[in-house]
Amino acid sequence: MTIDQYANRFVCDLVAYEPGKPIDETARELGLDPSQIVKVASNENPLGPSPLAKSAMREAIEEAHIYPDGGGYRLRAAIAESFEMELGNVVLGNGSNEIIELLCHTFLNRDAELIAAEHAFVVYKLMATLFGAKYVEVPDPGFIHDLDAMADAITEKTRLVFIANPNNPTGTMVDQTTIDRFMTRVPEHVIVVFDEAYFEFPDSPPDTLKYVREDRNVCVLRTFSKIHGLAALRVGYGLASKNVATLLQKARQPFNVNAIAQAGALAALADTEHIEKTRAVNRSGMAFYESAFAERGLEYVPSYANFLLVKTGGGDRVFRDMLKQGVIVRAMSSYKLPEWVRISIGTEKQNRRCLEVLDSVLAAAAVA
Ligand SMILES: *Cc1c(COP(=O)(O)O)cnc(C)c1O
Repeated sequence: MTIDQYANRFVCDLVAYEPGKPIDETARELGLDPSQIVKVASNENPLGPSPLAKSAMREAIEEAHIYPDGGGYRLRAAIAESFEMELGNVVLGNGSNEIIELLCHTFLNRDAELIAAEHAFVVYKLMATLFGAKYVEVPDPGFIHDLDAMADAITEKTRLVFIANPNNPTGTMVDQTTIDRFMTRVPEHVIVVFDEAYFEFPDSPPDTLKYVREDRNVCVLRTFSKIHGLAALRVGYGLASKNVATLLQKARQPFNVNAIAQAGALAALADTEHIEKTRAVNRSGMAFYESAFAERGLEYVPSYANFLLVKTGGGDRVFRDMLKQGVIVRAMSSYKLPEWVRISIGTEKQNRRCLEVLDSVLAAAAVA
């Protein structure tokens, strides 16, 4: 007899999300100095938080005894303005991950189906499982979402279709024409979610906000965790038609985004200098890895985001061996890609260190 028999069976069946290994934990386990560890496992901003966000957060701390604005007025207004939308189109989340959960709360039940690509961000599957919905996984040849096949997979029971663009962990992107063709095939009873956590990295990402403006049943997800360097704050947002947004607002906790985070995010939104610097560092880091992998004959997936999927063979082993030398990458066996690891683009120094350690690990494996 265990307590499990009294619990929601969907919770019992869940396999918990495995995040990138934390620096502190790695330091503790290996007896290393945390400052010597390079973490390139969670697509974080290697330049750190937006400096404007840091000073706004310091100021906000003085008011930490007051409950946050539960309606997130200032931040939502700034987001709405920057995209020429209205307040009613903007939903804040405790990370965009929370908005994924709100969408599932709102639209899923045990009869519903959620469609995503085979190598899509794994949180969609976890959430579908949690809500007892059917998770429909559509093959993605060449690691690119096959939107025609995803449209074919829509049934009467489909409620949500997730399109991660660029996708994590593959870094691939679908283009405007493909999205537009897909959208002509989506019926009323289906909500399309464009997860655009890496939207700010590619030079010309497709425009999906036009579907919000057209009042289609879509939700576009963005986050402060990546380009703005505020992953620890947990702030993301959804841009949705008002009907969809109003439902999501009902499903959230009253104070789901804390006041320090709201202040930091508001300042970060205006910090175009930090955004541009981050893009430049990412571009040169990407070029560094692309030429290094090509020289070594290592297969990789061309990426539009701030990370790369590279085929090293024995991903779990490569992860463990690199960890021993203080470099944290992400093994991909949970994505059914046991031969691959995902590396986030770091600073120039971090990239060199990571490559050096990867080289030594692959050389040792070749001898063994
Ligand atoms: C990183 C990431 C997110 C962002 O998560 P937050 O909860 O906003 O930190 C969302 N979707 C994808 C695909 C991601 O890779």
